Amino acid sequence: MSRQRPAPSIVLFRRDLRIEDNGALAAAVDRDTPVIALYIFDEEDRNLRAMGAASRWWLHHSLAALDHRLRQTGANLLLARGRTYDIVGEAIGASGADCVFWNRRYDPSEAAVDDRLKANLREQGLTARSFDGALLHEPSLLKTGAGGFYKVYTPFWKAMADKADLRDPIDAPGSIDGWRGEFAGLRLEDLDLLPTKPDWAQGLRQIWTPGEEAGKARIHEFIEHDLEGYERRRDIPGKQATSRLSPHLAFGEITPFQIVASLRKSRSAGASKFRSEIGWREFSYHLLFHNPDLAGRNFRPEFDAMSWRDDARALRAWQRGLTGYPIVDAGMRELWRTGWMHNRVRMIAASFLIKDLMIDWRHGEKWFWDTLVDADPANNPGSWQWVAGSGADAAPYFRIFNPVLQGEKFDPQGEYVRRHIPEIAALPDRYIHRPWEAPASLLKDNNIELGRTYPKPIVDHGAARDRALIVYRSIKDEKAS
Ligand code: FAD
Repeated sequence: MSRQRPAPSIVLFRRDLRIEDNGALAAAVDRDTPVIALYIFDEEDRNLRAMGAASRWWLHHSLAALDHRLRQTGANLLLARGRTYDIVGEAIGASGADCVFWNRRYDPSEAAVDDRLKANLREQGLTARSFDGALLHEPSLLKTGAGGFYKVYTPFWKAMADKADLRDPIDAPGSIDGWRGEFAGLRLEDLDLLPTKPDWAQGLRQIWTPGEEAGKARIHEFIEHDLEGYERRRDIPGKQATSRLSPHLAFGEITPFQIVASLRKSRSAGASKFRSEIGWREFSYHLLFHNPDLAGRNFRPEFDAMSWRDDARALRAWQRGLTGYPIVDAGMRELWRTGWMHNRVRMIAASFLIKDLMIDWRHGEKWFWDTLVDADPANNPGSWQWVAGSGADAAPYFRIFNPVLQGEKFDPQGEYVRRHIPEIAALPDRYIHRPWEAPASLLKDNNIELGRTYPKPIVDHGAARDRALIVYRSIKDEKAS
């Protein structure tokens, strides 16, 4: 009598490129049947936002790291390209799988794909189950007293803290019975994720190690060395005082459950501030879940009347780090070279684009989306709208960062600026954030020619500020009238 082989389970990997604290993987392993670990690169579905170039670089290495982790346990990662729904159907056809598991996604366009998939699989009598992991809270469940969603961070975070009965992270499976059949068969190189002509990823390679193990090591390193004093030092871009966990979180190599569990013993001011930053991430997802087009539409509709300037040259100067304002340029160059920018400088650079140049925040959001390794569908548009003033719980319209004063306050010795703008590094501290005020002889002695070796400011901040205030006030008055 022939014994029937048990039907395998499919585990879909997406922005959850890890084997620890992975509910979907754990459920599949628990079934004691072969596991098909599948990543589908879906660029065909036009409703899904295509990944930016820096994210693609990260994805390549993260997939390699995940495959390595899976192989250590007895499985391997299958790669496919196409629409999720079609590929899952093909995988079921090829393998006879009767269960599909995944961890939930909270970007509404991605969640819609998953909802449709779940309904369809269930209609066919198959098992489809989804799990938490990406967020500490379920956006559909956390409601205000009036039954709506939260638009202000503080009550949101308080409501979350009140429900803070968080589960423990799930252990990585010790071994996985990997499915050995034939399917897909794409090689990682076939996904074509890495830049080649030119290969601009040198700076990324130098500082980042994508993957779950590197992410976990970062958590421990941060807690050991930088958690103490985080609340004070996190605003100083010249120091490495923040966790740099953002790309690991964006790709789900680590989960907020793992972070919170690692912080449990700590009662310090640093730990409390750090938890609340994780809270901002939760808040951004809460907003995205309830406002699907967060990257495309003003959260506050009165901003639709805003008259943005159409200035391709200024936008280009900002993108290249050639505005003539050192702190802005240092940030934009850090971004270009490393795929990351310090949070304080993200705020200054964003404010400069929006309020000094009066360029629509959506141009900035798109540039960040393409160039950040941590480009995140919730945090990126949520933060841009926050700076623009068009978002929920946003910065007040009259807060216009002065790039010189911000530089002098948060980078007083110019450590950050000198690192990223070598052409003015020789200037003394006094002029490092305002090179145009340096005496001509000092500039000459240091081979600095403003307008040639480093730009003159492309706008006068004082005049730009006045212009922005007039435009912003008009939006406010329009709303009031
Ligand atoms: P840490 O200070 O160590 O914070 C730990 C984690 O908390 C971060 O990894 C992040 O997940 C979360 N966090 C921290 N600050 C914020 C915040 N203000 N909003 C939401 N979550 C936060 N963050 C992204 O992850 N992806 C983005 O695409 C992104 N775009 C941004 C665009 C602009 C214009 C601005 C002003 C901020 C943006 N942020 C974004 C938020 C923040 O700058 C980064 O999360 C942070 O700099 C990442 O570095 P870190 O991991 O060392 O942060």
